[in-house]
Amino acid sequence: MNAALAQPRSIASIAIRAAGLMAALLAFATAAAAEPLFSFDTTPGKLPKTVVPSHYAIELAPDLQALTLAGSEVVDIDVREPLWRVELSAVDVAIDEASIDDGAQRADVSLDPRTEIATLAFANALTPGAHRLRLKFRAKINRFGRGLFFVDYPTANGVKRMISTQLEPADARRIFPCWDEPAFKATFQLTVTLPQQFLAVSNMPVAKQEPAADGRKRIAFATTPKMSSYLFVLTAGDLERITADADGVTVGVVTTRGKAEQGRFALENATKLLTFYNDYFGQKYPLPKLDLIAVPGGFGGAMENWGGITFFESRLLFDPLTNSDAVRRGIFSVMAHEMAHQWFGDLVTTGWWNNLWLNEGFASWMQEKAAEHFYPQWKTWLNGYGQKQFAMALDARRTSHPIQQTVADQSEAMTAFDAITYNKGQAFIRMLENYLGPDAFRDGIRRYMAAHAYSNATTADLWQALEQAAGKPVAPIAASFTEQEGVPLVLAETICDGATQRLTLKQDRFAIVPASANATVPPRHWLIPVEIGAPGASAPSTALVLDGSAGIPAGACGDAVKVNFGDIGYYRVEYGPNSGAALLKSLAKLAPEDRVNVLADNWALMLAGRTDAASYLGLIASLDVNDHRAVWDQVISAFAALDRFSRNRAERPALEAFMRARLRPVFDRVGWDGSGSGDDDTTLLRGSLIRALGDFGDADIVAEAKRRFDAFLKEPKSLSPALLDSVAHVVGISANRDTYDALLALARRSTAANERVRYYDAAASARDASLAGETLALTLTNELPSTLVGGLINQVGLSGWQPQLAWDFIQKNLGALTARQGPDFPDEFIPNFFMTNFYDEAHAAELRQFAPAQATTGGRVMTARALESIAISADVEARVLPAVDRWVSAHSARH
Ligand SMILES: [Zn+2]
Repeated sequence: MNAALAQPRSIASIAIRAAGLMAALLAFATAAAAEPLFSFDTTPGKLPKTVVPSHYAIELAPDLQALTLAGSEVVDIDVREPLWRVELSAVDVAIDEASIDDGAQRADVSLDPRTEIATLAFANALTPGAHRLRLKFRAKINRFGRGLFFVDYPTANGVKRMISTQLEPADARRIFPCWDEPAFKATFQLTVTLPQQFLAVSNMPVAKQEPAADGRKRIAFATTPKMSSYLFVLTAGDLERITADADGVTVGVVTTRGKAEQGRFALENATKLLTFYNDYFGQKYPLPKLDLIAVPGGFGGAMENWGGITFFESRLLFDPLTNSDAVRRGIFSVMAHEMAHQWFGDLVTTGWWNNLWLNEGFASWMQEKAAEHFYPQWKTWLNGYGQKQFAMALDARRTSHPIQQTVADQSEAMTAFDAITYNKGQAFIRMLENYLGPDAFRDGIRRYMAAHAYSNATTADLWQALEQAAGKPVAPIAASFTEQEGVPLVLAETICDGATQRLTLKQDRFAIVPASANATVPPRHWLIPVEIGAPGASAPSTALVLDGSAGIPAGACGDAVKVNFGDIGYYRVEYGPNSGAALLKSLAKLAPEDRVNVLADNWALMLAGRTDAASYLGLIASLDVNDHRAVWDQVISAFAALDRFSRNRAERPALEAFMRARLRPVFDRVGWDGSGSGDDDTTLLRGSLIRALGDFGDADIVAEAKRRFDAFLKEPKSLSPALLDSVAHVVGISANRDTYDALLALARRSTAANERVRYYDAAASARDASLAGETLALTLTNELPSTLVGGLINQVGLSGWQPQLAWDFIQKNLGALTARQGPDFPDEFIPNFFMTNFYDEAHAAELRQFAPAQATTGGRVMTARALESIAISADVEARVLPAVDRWVSAHSARH
């Protein structure tokens, strides 16, 4: 039912005999000791399972001036054994009163900020059975996007303030005391008191609204179905809403006043997606309404709260005057992702965060599948090839982790929201769907949804449903990819036997370990679904599950064979001399997916020291200027990495000249101007090339970008929205005082999140040290929403080439930055995002001694990953760059 890559295909031969495969699968199943099916009592978590909430009636009264929250709640609980103490989650919340059963007993309350657990101690034991708990509490409204947060946003009538929530994985406890672990599902009924002119959105529709004191109003929302606390939502402000009907459900897009029309694209697509998912999951969306809410700050992504999905504004709204048409692709992806969660995540929820990958991997896969269904011309899998590459790069390291991992607490749960969880999960689900066939896979998903609706599940529950639907073993293959870390490597070589040839396949582990680590990675073993085909064929000729090694007939002696046909598998391929030479000759005949795959594998093999720079650069030299955008994007991202690694090298100008010479003919083909407003691959490639050529110092491109930017300042319509991002970036990196001021003025004048991001980001890219210092100083003012601060500091290091300046600034202002940005700043942002801008042992040593990053479990994990990233970068600079320079100097004369 789906586009090209997911179509059922004829499988010419199954190369492993069934008996051998079954034996291997059984052996694996025993060794992997797969995780059990979901059971509430044995699900991990910190809270005892002796008290189970079934219903919360919550009353909240936020004070938007004082930034405080007054609240009370009545919780229906089931006490499962006699006990004196009730434990529930709370952090930064003061509990003023706690009583049970209409005041029959009052409790002594204590709060442990370290475990984030509140203990209610009763003088007399609570008897097993139903009880009703009453709590009065006070909490805070923060600016850092965790729990209940406020956003001050610019409008034509001055700055306004609104509030919203962000609770995953464990911040509901910042708003109201609750059993804040996903296995404790309950119903929620929220009542909130707000200013009269506010529109308030929660999980369910408004049930009742009445005037309250001081010009306020009291809004009661309908009761939710059973759900996990992290899916609770409340957004309120001077908002407006547009709606449509989809299969009897009211779909809404909610924006700040004046922006609702920019939500039309989202609304149209949300109705299409809801109908599509109703069919795919075999369960109708169970709430009466679904709102998509654009929040202009406070948090950066999107969150699948049940019935009320929140998005950072530029991820949802489309403004044809300031957005390239291609921005719709990103909006669609994020919507499709969050809407898939309404079933996969919200209706059926993972029991604990160790299975987060299943939520995220599935939704990340479904977003692409939905895009291929509704917009096949976008070629979402081909153009999104980089997502898998990003995961594989991290998964090749010693600090990688299984996508299904032990998670001890909430700081560690935060570290699980990484590219391995999302992108390896996505790639694995794609490979699995391809292996089982799309219909069998969908039937398994329907079984899983039906069996676990309004409850929880583990990955084992999903494998069981898929096995039942497909009649094929799933768990042992899945365990090899989900319960152990690492990237499989398939070694492929052809051997002629007279006129015909055989292809031999052998598996190993692919790893990138810096020489300085003086270490190796332990061997791993996978059951790898492998597909093989001839260059240019429309379907693979062979599919097998590779267990150890295999040998198969592969046509005539000298025929080219492409392993990992269609780039669907999660593994790398290293060809031997015969098969590699034959493939190189057929490179032009391969589908773009396969050429991207060969290039990406070759780049990774070079970083791992398995092939030399000459082989990779020779491959790039053989590419056609007319090749697909995805192929050239792969080259551009590799060049950008080489450019970064050579930041401190005398050879950098020669390297940049070489890269310009390689990319410029591609740009000259696409040119500055094209028809249309931008939703096509040529326009998107044009944007990437302008940015890259600008970064690598192409004087013509920089001058033309500046000319067009100056014309734009006088007449905004003179520049196509499709070029705005790249032109702003190129003038940003080379900005002088006047250009810098012009960029900041554009950012300050705009009330649209996408424009503010674009122009602040461009200003932060300035390579002039004094301008970079001004950007850093801006991050401490109230001018910037906290959402942009981390990105701008990072940009000063990355595009602005001033990482040391930014690092000095961070250390000097750590307290102020943490107060603004929230508790994740020292232990997540600094190691994970910022310090990886450095490639030297001196900075690794500074990070090792930077105590604020090591204060939490999550911070120690992030720091270890960052230290390895720095060591790998240093190793690449020392080992690969000299070989690149030699190749460049030998070949530059010819360009
Ligand atoms: Zn997600």
